[in-house]
Amino acid sequence: MTLTLPGFVDGHCHLDKTLWGMPWRPHVAGATVAERIEAERALRGALPVPTIERGRALLEQMIACGTTALRTHVDIDTARKLDDLHAILELREQNRGRVDMQIVAFPQSGILRDPGVADLLDAALKEGADLVGGLDPVGIDRDLKGHLDVVFALASRHGKGVDIHLHDGGESGLAQIEDIAVRTAAHGLGGKVAISHAFALGDAKPEALGRVADRLARADVAIMTHAPGAASMPPVKALREAGVEVFSGSDNIRDLWSPYGNGDMLERARLIGYRQNFRRDEDMLIALDLVTEAGRRATGLGGGDTVVDVEAETIAEAIATCPPRLAVRRGVSRVVT
Ligand SMILES: [Zn+2]
Repeated sequence: MTLTLPGFVDGHCHLDKTLWGMPWRPHVAGATVAERIEAERALRGALPVPTIERGRALLEQMIACGTTALRTHVDIDTARKLDDLHAILELREQNRGRVDMQIVAFPQSGILRDPGVADLLDAALKEGADLVGGLDPVGIDRDLKGHLDVVFALASRHGKGVDIHLHDGGESGLAQIEDIAVRTAAHGLGGKVAISHAFALGDAKPEALGRVADRLARADVAIMTHAPGAASMPPVKALREAGVEVFSGSDNIRDLWSPYGNGDMLERARLIGYRQNFRRDEDMLIALDLVTEAGRRATGLGGGDTVVDVEAETIAEAIATCPPRLAVRRGVSRVVT
């Protein structure tokens, strides 16, 4: 039978980084975040296909899979400057009405360790970026206060949201999450701040997890998880039960950071369920929520008038089997599942 699902939300991707549509390219970067940053900086400028064309190829794939709302982080650093932002702003304009797109000005090389980035972020927000990003304030910039001071000052000055990549784990990661929650409340930015990855929540002992989750819920800070392959994954059910909004996205899709990914958020739901050990149908519904309505709630993205038809008896079966899309229909006023 034909099953109709809500349109998908990809709450975290990198349209500017992708190699989609290019010949296969073996992965060469090292294993750490810092090594991947350096590898990308060395190779990115020499790619033979312009950012807008690579981004467009991936965007078409994502739309064909049923995603009509997405948040893309765009690299802002002293090597890329605003070039990729301009490409993705143009891509967004060309696809207005087809896809609802938010752009995060993302300091991929850090802020303090790459002098000039703070000004570039400021310019990016003036030119149309919707949110200011951040990256491992301790792990990359080695300065929690300095990094977050810049991020939250920019968000306040421009009246924009925040979405911070946080790979840092352990006690340091938890402390950074708590600091972000405190600053969110202090700046009155509740509902406009997300922490992407937050691997530290996946390592946390129950007592610490409860404390940090409560702080996140009270500050209304959302957590984005892409169901990482090897890193610790935030516990989705425990966070939701504590009142924390959890949503999902693809993150890297066939780029210089990862050879994996295909922009299919139904497959992402399957990965979430697999990593979280969701076996019962009611748990698998949570995985679907992360790639649909939770994404809309956390980001404010649209796409709620899109539905996706697949061949399946139930939502749980669709998540487990990840069937091809029969149709992606827009302008549908009511979602029937
Ligand atoms: Zn990312």
